[in-house]
Amino acid sequence: MEDKLQKLAELVRSLKRAGASDARVVDVSKIIVDEALAARCLEPKCPNYGLALSCPPNVEGPEGMREKLKRFEKAVTLKLDVPLKLLNSKESYTAFKRLSELAVGAEELAKELGFREAEAYTGGSCKVIFCGEEERCQALSGGACRQPRFARRSMSGYGVDVTALAAEAGWKLSWSGVQPEDGGEKLASVYGLVLIY
Ligand code: SF4
Repeated sequence: MEDKLQKLAELVRSLKRAGASDARVVDVSKIIVDEALAARCLEPKCPNYGLALSCPPNVEGPEGMREKLKRFEKAVTLKLDVPLKLLNSKESYTAFKRLSELAVGAEELAKELGFREAEAYTGGSCKVIFCGEEERCQALSGGACRQPRFARRSMSGYGVDVTALAAEAGWKLSWSGVQPEDGGEKLASVYGLVLIY
């Protein structure tokens, strides 16, 4: 047990070293999965709905996530603070790309530390993040994913309640951004989740 806790602490430290704005260990039992949240991918319909193997209806959805969570006890959640205006721009994919790199880095380290089942989830559509220049998702038609290392499924398609997850981590989530104390430009956060064991 002590060994596992030390490894979780190492994962948190490595995420912060790599540039995550914060990272926390959470109990998987506290992760809320809500059908109504997953349904938002379809209504109002997300422009990326169905465009990638990693988005609905091509993922297992809330029921699949509940089944998966039964196999885990601990997860690490991370956030990346970015300028709100970046998230509201057509360059927003760069924030989600960085988030994917951070989450996958933690997943890879977790595997090195012995948590072979570790699995990262991010935000946004990998079609936009990694294949924006491509006409279609190659993996959807039976080909190989163009970004197998970094493309991960978004929490949204599974109905993971990101607001509740952020609260569990002790973060106050604001979609409309937060003014930093130094008076700089408004920041907003993107969130990732790595199931560890
Ligand atoms: S090929 Fe591109 S769009 Fe399809 S799953 Fe891989 S990264 Fe996502």
